[in-house]
Amino acid sequence: MTSIPSKITLQVPAKINPQIRVGPLREDGYHDITLAYQAISLFDTLTISQNPEGPTMNVTGMDSDRVPADNRNLVIKAASLLGKHVDVEPTFHFELAKCIPSEAGLGGGSADAAAALVGCNMLWGSKVNDDDLMELGAQIGEDVPFFIRGMMAIGLGHKQPLVSLEVTGHKWIWVLAIPFRGLSTKAVFQEHDEVLTGSLSEEEEKYRRRRQGCIDVAWGTSSPMELLPFLVNDLEFPSTRLLPDIGIALEAGRSHGAVASLMSGSGSTCAFLAKDEAHAMQLKTELQKETIFREIVIASGPVEGVRVIQN
Ligand code: ATP
Repeated sequence: MTSIPSKITLQVPAKINPQIRVGPLREDGYHDITLAYQAISLFDTLTISQNPEGPTMNVTGMDSDRVPADNRNLVIKAASLLGKHVDVEPTFHFELAKCIPSEAGLGGGSADAAAALVGCNMLWGSKVNDDDLMELGAQIGEDVPFFIRGMMAIGLGHKQPLVSLEVTGHKWIWVLAIPFRGLSTKAVFQEHDEVLTGSLSEEEEKYRRRRQGCIDVAWGTSSPMELLPFLVNDLEFPSTRLLPDIGIALEAGRSHGAVASLMSGSGSTCAFLAKDEAHAMQLKTELQKETIFREIVIASGPVEGVRVIQN
């Protein structure tokens, strides 16, 4: 019999999106969207302990001044949702140490929500399986299910299950450059819709073809170098219109010799693929000379999702 811990510490990675394909706005107000996900070695740490006064929360580290430490935090939302599901009150204290920058397209809040689901499930001994945790996660945000298992996956958009990918040992090394300004996901999609050029049916047809391209790629088993033509993000154009620094960042990556330069999520982080660790260090040094980035970090993927590091 395994005993139930009274305190648990979990680590959860950030994500980047090696490819994003976006369709036109549908009548229900959502976009069809197809995303490739990769979990990378930049981690938030969440410690959950018993607290009869809970839920309470403290947030430290990267951008903690921008992250609410109350029931607006996705950690508390996730704990409450799982609590309702298993009929228990989330009487916990959550200590969140952030390394994932906020509003950067790296999925930090969603990652933390996934950590809360896994951690509370263990502290309650409630034995909700990963598939059900992923379903609960999807009620909090579209990216949340990905962080339960991490590695690489394809997301097929609103309310459709994530497709996990077989992964066979290729290491991707990224230099992540985070501009001073972040971008609102909603604003980027609005801009995307405004800059669509064709009729809706033409755009829909174009999207179907691009989507199939995203699905057919052997993301998990091919080397990064074989996949270079597929590293594209349809949101780069609208994001750059809203924040020209993104265009400047992508161009800087190219001119300093990045193997690929692309934006992650709806921005504003730009991810530059390096040949190896030494190349990544060199790229980082070059990019540090630009004045538009508030942070530049090296991370690699794919890595696994939520992991218990202490109990
Ligand atoms: P995505 O890549 O999914 O678009 P993001 O990385 O751009 O996400 P997040 O860092 O997840 O953005 O934060 C988005 C918003 O969520 C912020 O306004 C922040 O205040 C709020 N938020 C709620 N909970 C958290 C959390 N645990 N960590 C970070 N932000 C959180």
